[in-house]
Amino acid sequence: MKIHRVPTDEQRKRFFRQIAKLWPVAKGSVAEVRKPCTRPGCKACAEGRKHPAFILGYKQAGKRRCLYVPADRVAALRKAIANGRRIEQLLSEYGAEMVKQARKQR
Ligand SMILES: [Zn+2]
Repeated sequence: MKIHRVPTDEQRKRFFRQIAKLWPVAKGSVAEVRKPCTRPGCKACAEGRKHPAFILGYKQAGKRRCLYVPADRVAALRKAIANGRRIEQLLSEYGAEMVKQARKQR
């Protein structure tokens, strides 16, 4: 029986090549919210419309956290989150590959 085995070093190189393109990275989700401002007599706040804002929801040590995101950074942050998801997907694939290879080597 012929064993098709990819050397671990090649896998490592492949992995670093793949993740090099996936920068910047982030994990979490971006949501659009409405927040009130502090300007006295603001029409938008008085009418309940408030002001559009974006928040990044993420976890730190198991606790949910959030941060306001400047509007001009939202697109870049969403791209970073997509990159983070792709890396997680890669980790799953490499894990499965590792187990499949171990089985073939028996
Ligand atoms: Zn306001």
